[in-house]
Amino acid sequence: METDVNSKHIVVIGGGPGGYPAAFHAADLGMQVTLIDDAPNPGGVCLYRGCIPSKALLHAAAFINEASEIAEWGITVSKPQIDLDKLRARKEAVIAKLTGGLGQLTKQRKITYLQGRARFADPKTLTVTMSDGTTQTLTFDAAIIATGSQPIHLPFAPDSPRVLDSTTALDLADIPASMLLVGGGYIGLELGQVYASLGSRVTVVEMMPALLPGADAALVRVLAAKLKKQFEAIHLKTRVAALDETPEGIAVRFEGKHEGSETFDKILVAVGRRPDAGNVGLENTGVVVDEKGFITVDAQRRTAEPAIYAIGDVAGQPMLAHKATYEGKVAAEAIAGMKTVYDPKAIPGVVFTDPEIAWCGLTEAEAKAAGRDVKVTSFPWAASGRATTLGRSDGVTRLVLDPTDNHRVLGVGMAGPGAGELIAEGTLAIEMGAVADDLAWTIHPHPTLSETVMEAAESAMGHSIHYTR
Ligand code: FAD
Ligand code: NAD
Repeated sequence: METDVNSKHIVVIGGGPGGYPAAFHAADLGMQVTLIDDAPNPGGVCLYRGCIPSKALLHAAAFINEASEIAEWGITVSKPQIDLDKLRARKEAVIAKLTGGLGQLTKQRKITYLQGRARFADPKTLTVTMSDGTTQTLTFDAAIIATGSQPIHLPFAPDSPRVLDSTTALDLADIPASMLLVGGGYIGLELGQVYASLGSRVTVVEMMPALLPGADAALVRVLAAKLKKQFEAIHLKTRVAALDETPEGIAVRFEGKHEGSETFDKILVAVGRRPDAGNVGLENTGVVVDEKGFITVDAQRRTAEPAIYAIGDVAGQPMLAHKATYEGKVAAEAIAGMKTVYDPKAIPGVVFTDPEIAWCGLTEAEAKAAGRDVKVTSFPWAASGRATTLGRSDGVTRLVLDPTDNHRVLGVGMAGPGAGELIAEGTLAIEMGAVADDLAWTIHPHPTLSETVMEAAESAMGHSIHYTR
């Protein structure tokens, strides 16, 4: 017979945006919950050393850039003076406020929070090494592994304070005169833009033919045009072959399209993240890990061990906070015995640079690779009244539509300020099975950037008000 939900004890290992929502939802569903993380409060990578601190710094970076651009409007602002200690303190205050709030919510839900590190002793028992050095043993009806991911390091990089990963880059120890970003993905471009705005001469080296290789090339072009002005150099199809510490900095040898050597004050290695599945004693359970190190899960996020679930970065791509949260809710409901499934039709991705790049669903390149016939329609922000009032005519909104199914929306992408906010409409459209006509005949407020979604849809029907091909 099924155990009554209220008597179920569930343990969540890891307090990031996967783990804490799973714990909160399980508690809201009536289960007894223990949440384990080594930080004083929940938050995980996202709040302590990921999404939140990077976005706080990007906010400051955007202000610095706007201050220089506003001269075109007849407003002259003197060059911003940067108090690095104050900026760092502000970022820390944001983290403290949000993680402290999560601590409060944990208490309010009567969740037992254990500050420590957990390991499975067997499929039904966990040993927790508490941060005060003591040990606790826990049994559970179900456990959720939400241990996240770690930055990938370059094996040949010297162990030097000049070689940063995302965590140490966010510490903002100083503003180096020159910085090399190894990897032109999410982290490299977001943090690279922060350092460039603060005054570093930033170079990026990316081994693929384009920045942000997974994103729609037409969106990346808009960002790349801006980065070409902000960054010292962008080297594509190029790898770092060697890194050596010298008294002047880190000497870098490039190979590929851009051959040669150059010395940088600091290097930010941002070549991806790997799942953190190795520290929880999985060898004492039947949990299976794939060749890339991700824990294998089913559609309810259950592992090969029936009472153990896995969510978030440790359970597969994309390594995004909102995907982790969604999975956390699914796992909690599955454990509660509810009918639930992880089956999102679209997961938005947002690069919070200026301009922002945001997309969800199918991209044009993915459709092409799959040999799928799609209709792609673009609305240039040069034709948007709101974009012009903001001085941001460089943006674009794109729809990927199914020409054989009433122009059903398969993918949405945007480049421009606020794209990260606007993309939610696209995700909803795909989840709800909307067709272009639905977007075209939804009244969007004027003047807003959201009208670009409506007009891109109108364009697909051949009658965009403000844009003719
Ligand atoms: P995590 O957030 O990694 O949390 C895992 C937690 O488990 C950690 O606190 C860890 O210490 C703890 N843990 C590990 N092992 C144990 C153990 N044995 N016992 C107890 N605790 C343990 N995503 C976005 O969607 N938007 C963004 O803007 C964004 N920006 C990012 C910026 C940066 C610089 C980085 C690095 C990442 C960013 N991400 C962003 C990715 C996002 O942070 C991750 O996808 C998200 O944090 C994954 O959540 P998670 O719950 O799976 O794990
Ligand atoms: P990433 O996968 O986004 O980018 C890594 C880049 O490095 C890729 O473009 C890859 O081709 C390149 N690369 C790999 N090895 C290289 C080498 N030897 N030389 C040159 N280039 C190389 O990874 P990331 O930027 O480290 O971020 C990790 C993950 O964290 C992201 O994939 C994302 O899931 C998450 N994240 C999300 C956000 C956000 O949502 N805004 C922000 C930061 C991080």
